[in-house]
Amino acid sequence: MSKSHELPRKVYASEEHAMFKKTVEEYFKNYVLPFREQWEKQGYCDREAWLKAGELGLLGITLDPKYGGLGLDFSYAALVIEEQARFGAASPSISMHSDIVIPYIEKHGSEYLKNLYLPKCASGELIGSLAMTEPGTGSDVQAIKTFAEDKGDHYILNGSKTFITIGYTSDFTIVACKTDKNKGFKGISLLIVDANSTGFSKGKPFVKLGLKSSDTCELFFEDVMVPKENLLGSEGQGFIQMMTELPRERMTIALGAIGAVRGALEQTVVYTQERRAFKKPICGFQNTQFKLAEVATQLEVSTAFVDRCTELLVEGNLTPELASMAKYQTSDMQCAMIDECLQLFGGYGYIWEYPIARYYGDARVQRIYGGTNEIMKLMISRSLFSNYFRELKANMRANKQAAVSN
Ligand SMILES: Cc1cc2nc3c(=O)[nH]c(=O)nc-3n(C[C@H](O)[C@H](O)[C@H](O)COP(=O)(O)OP(=O)(O)OC[C@H]3O[C@@H](n4cnc5c(N)ncnc54)[C@H](O)[C@@H]3O)c2cc1C
Repeated sequence: MSKSHELPRKVYASEEHAMFKKTVEEYFKNYVLPFREQWEKQGYCDREAWLKAGELGLLGITLDPKYGGLGLDFSYAALVIEEQARFGAASPSISMHSDIVIPYIEKHGSEYLKNLYLPKCASGELIGSLAMTEPGTGSDVQAIKTFAEDKGDHYILNGSKTFITIGYTSDFTIVACKTDKNKGFKGISLLIVDANSTGFSKGKPFVKLGLKSSDTCELFFEDVMVPKENLLGSEGQGFIQMMTELPRERMTIALGAIGAVRGALEQTVVYTQERRAFKKPICGFQNTQFKLAEVATQLEVSTAFVDRCTELLVEGNLTPELASMAKYQTSDMQCAMIDECLQLFGGYGYIWEYPIARYYGDARVQRIYGGTNEIMKLMISRSLFSNYFRELKANMRANKQAAVSN
């Protein structure tokens, strides 16, 4: 039953969702939260947590059962993402592995690749990451330089990637690279590269502002031999494949945002009833009441939009523009609302031991990764001004042709 200030949520309304939620809560309470501080110190989470998640079915929720998954719809994966963020558990990065990497292989991989990787991905024996960003380019994916040279039955891969989530712990990475340097975005392909390949090395996990228990690192490829069978789909399809998968990736961020705000709000409601100033609890000040009423309202309004987008994603009808709106609006809201919550903790809000500090640190990157919020607005505005951009493109093409014929 939802509380009177919370929306009844149709996306998670079934009995199956309620049962699944219990499993998810138990997983985070028993196998994640007790180890969080240790993982934060070491900068990555232990394999046992992945294996336990696999045992409980949390790593292949939407994956076809013939590859070891549960075969459920995305709403169950959405529930896991929200709960994880509500607990303030940055690790293991289930959504990166299960909701981003696995679907790439399931949708675009050959039968050989699916059989080789997916069952072990679902069990947690293999962990995958996705590497698009390079030291020289992030937002402008078309400008990547990592190059896979065709050598007949294999490629030779050279280049580097940065900021790769679970790059340090993953057993393989899906690498976006150029297979043809002269074809722009049509020259981009996706290769699965095993972490134990000769010439593949990893940097140490970065020391970050937040998400401290989840590793993020650089990857280096020096003459790495990648078998041709490790190509996802066909050559030159990489950019289109990434664009197709981005709406789901953006929804994972939006779901994380509303989960985190819910967790932060719950913690702040408790704290402000316990902490006293001027002989009354902090919640006795009207400022506290108003601030938390605003947080609750912003959260429910965002939740309504995210739920509708989740339904559209389940139906296969979520557009990139709506997913971009969800990502940018919820992550902005997350940062603003968690900041308000932190303020109500006073000095304790700044101390890492207090959960609100973790919510605050973890929130900031949500506006940056998965495409920055500026890039989200660019995508939305392209749809608003589609005629203008179409004409602009046609003019540029005509000018280019004229320059060639002159
Ligand atoms: C913790 C973390 C985890 C990450 N995980 C991954 C991962 O798993 N895999 C992966 O491939 N990448 C990952 N990233 C990288 C992330 O996706 C990029 O950092 C992000 O896309 C931005 O790229 P950039 O850092 O190169 O910034 P830049 O592209 O250099 O952008 C810098 C600034 O310029 C703005 N800007 C750029 N272009 C435009 C434009 N056209 N119009 C207006 N403003 C613009 C940006 O919005 C930003 O504010 C991760 C990053 C972090 C911090």
